[in-house]
Amino acid sequence: CGIVGFVSSSTPETAGHGALDVVMAGLTRLEYRGYDSAGVALVTADRTLASAKKAGKLSALREELEAHPLPEAMTGIGHTRWATHGGPTDANAHPHLADGGKLALIHNGIIENFASLKAALQDEGVEFESETDTEVAAHQLAKNYRASGDLAQAMRDTAKQLEGAFTLLAVHADLPGTVVAARRNSPLVIGLGEGENFLGSDVAAFIDYTRKALEIGQDEVVTITPDSVLITDLEGSEVAGEPFEVDWDT
Ligand code: GLU
Repeated sequence: CGIVGFVSSSTPETAGHGALDVVMAGLTRLEYRGYDSAGVALVTADRTLASAKKAGKLSALREELEAHPLPEAMTGIGHTRWATHGGPTDANAHPHLADGGKLALIHNGIIENFASLKAALQDEGVEFESETDTEVAAHQLAKNYRASGDLAQAMRDTAKQLEGAFTLLAVHADLPGTVVAARRNSPLVIGLGEGENFLGSDVAAFIDYTRKALEIGQDEVVTITPDSVLITDLEGSEVAGEPFEVDWDT
């Protein structure tokens, strides 16, 4: 339902915030949309992926994070879920992990052809931990990443294999400072900062940090790093995002 992504070249000390601060602030801004579960994933500079997720309100996730703190990181994604496939449980909350816990993916929308993709992945020995349509996208992305060794290419390949509506964001332990995303029939905007960049299901996700934004078109894949934004179509050709200024009193 609500989606936030963040990358920064700073340290929490110089930036005044870490990835978890930015992601939780964004999810709080997006709370007005309604949700039943929430979760975050972080990638640390020394290439570990850490995540936490909880059914219930953001306060339940905050309690979980206090009880089991995550390591400091400047790369992160966060999600609030409005369940469509699988009830509102901890296991069904996003992020969904794949590649032995090294890849984390969050999703807004519905993947219509998840059942056939899931059956094919299960035949290959993939084990599922949730009842969601989303987890299929996580494992499919991991499979495609193993094949190409390029997370953005893997996201393009995955988007082509999926039917339905989706905003997808993914991080991988191999790639601190990178968030890759795709969208079809579901919103996604980029926020442009100084030495840091943002993704959001709407501008509320990053309004506390920047007013400079870029729109992303249908069936496009975006890779953000602290100092670059690359948008492509599903064939890999670079496309320009539509710049706009967020004009909104907060
Ligand atoms: N279909 C996904 C699920 O049920 C995503 C729902 C959403 O947009 O939050 O987990």
